[in-house]
Amino acid sequence: MVDHRIEIKMKKIVKAQQDFFNTNATKEVSFRIEQLKEFKRILKTNENLLNKAIYSDFKKSAFENYTSELSLIYHDIDEAVKKVKRWSKVKRVKTNLANFPAKSYIIPEPLGTTLIIGAWNFPYLTSLAPVVAAMAAGNTIILKPSELSPSTSGVMHKLISNNFNTDYFSVIEGGIPETTELLEQKFDKIFFTGSVPVGRIVYEAASKHLTPVTLELGGKSPAFVTDTCNLKMTVKRLIWAKYLNAGQACVAPDYVLVHKSIKDKFLELAKTEIENAHFSIENDNYIQIINEKNVKRLMNIIDNKKIYCGGSSNLSERYIEPTILENVTFEDEIMKEEIFGPILPVIEYDNLDEIILKVKAQPKPLACYIYTEDRKTKNKLLQEISFGGGAVNDSNMHITNTKMPFGGVGNSGTGSYHGEFGFKTFTHYKGILEKPTWFELNLKYFPYTSKKLRFIKLMLGQK
Ligand code: NAD
Repeated sequence: MVDHRIEIKMKKIVKAQQDFFNTNATKEVSFRIEQLKEFKRILKTNENLLNKAIYSDFKKSAFENYTSELSLIYHDIDEAVKKVKRWSKVKRVKTNLANFPAKSYIIPEPLGTTLIIGAWNFPYLTSLAPVVAAMAAGNTIILKPSELSPSTSGVMHKLISNNFNTDYFSVIEGGIPETTELLEQKFDKIFFTGSVPVGRIVYEAASKHLTPVTLELGGKSPAFVTDTCNLKMTVKRLIWAKYLNAGQACVAPDYVLVHKSIKDKFLELAKTEIENAHFSIENDNYIQIINEKNVKRLMNIIDNKKIYCGGSSNLSERYIEPTILENVTFEDEIMKEEIFGPILPVIEYDNLDEIILKVKAQPKPLACYIYTEDRKTKNKLLQEISFGGGAVNDSNMHITNTKMPFGGVGNSGTGSYHGEFGFKTFTHYKGILEKPTWFELNLKYFPYTSKKLRFIKLMLGQK
């Protein structure tokens, strides 16, 4: 049932933003730079508040909040401040012969009023990194953070509404009713980070208004641990990447495909690596599962017979021990959906071609990680498997390089962002042909004659 108060509120906010956009204020590059600088200042001066809020949501430490969220947002802002003038420049391009004499150029223009929907797992990064891109590109912004991380949602609402004109940038808190009502409105762009099922809802709602969307979704990202890898380094990097954020990361290696000949050694080293990491919420090396519902979901997909190490949990503490499962097959329950938690299934393989086919039979993943020192193996995997992005001999870290696009493909998403790719995502490129009036070739005009056609063909270099 439609709640008319929510409906009226959403309509009012969107209308106010559209009116503000129509003043053309956001089109000035100087305005955008000012807002970006102000945004960074607000975040920097309130870092303690941001740390406290994220700790209250799932006991994420200040260390991890800085390294995996805030530092990346600061970097994005700095890069945008430095380069937005260049990114927004009108670009001259060559004019084709059929239009001679004329000039041709591309005008990057902001899309307008945008909606950004964030996820809870990296609540600042998934909400605010798209905001930086939208701001740099000159749009107005409505941000809807996840209600599942209420403290971070609350602090973003407080800081942004206290410091920004809501006609330009506002935060709307809430869950499904608020998001559903927001999605009824006409936006010029929707940027969504979250799960595949909700991604479908967003896509469908956007289609009613033909609103362009970027969907940053998830999936089951594989890690190939081949017999040609540096095993010690592989284990070190993989274990860090899997258990960071207690596995609640869209780019986390979801499962490992390990060559039969090194499987036992891999398991042994992985267990030791977990022990040496001293994963514990008390010492800030680990975080809570976001809610009890997810603890139950995760504990339900563990097959006790397959536990190699870990497997214990505490519901009220929302804790799940870093867990490794062995002898897993693609038919197991754990392989049916994205895990999004600290459980690592290990699947053994013998033949690379056969295992590639199994991976290709799954929906296209957001990431893929290839551990090998062998060039041929690396190239084979890179060429044969389609995925959003990934790394060779590392995991997760590709997202920190803003010179590369970050986004999924197929089921793991559509569109990308980070650095200039983010700017492009929130920009329309308007192609303009500008002609002088002192000259006109009469070839294209009526009446058509065979002589004109011969000329046209000659001009276009065709027979
Ligand atoms: P989610 O899809 O449950 O929620 C995301 C957002 O959608 C939230 O703001 C939520 O309020 C809203 N929402 C939820 N149900 C809705 C509905 N029925 N109608 C309208 N809006 C609704 O996702 P989540 O649990 O917050 O995040 C986990 C998922 O996000 C995982 O699949 C993960 O892989 C993915 N993720 C992807 C990226 C990426 O950059 N590709 C980053 C982080 C998380």
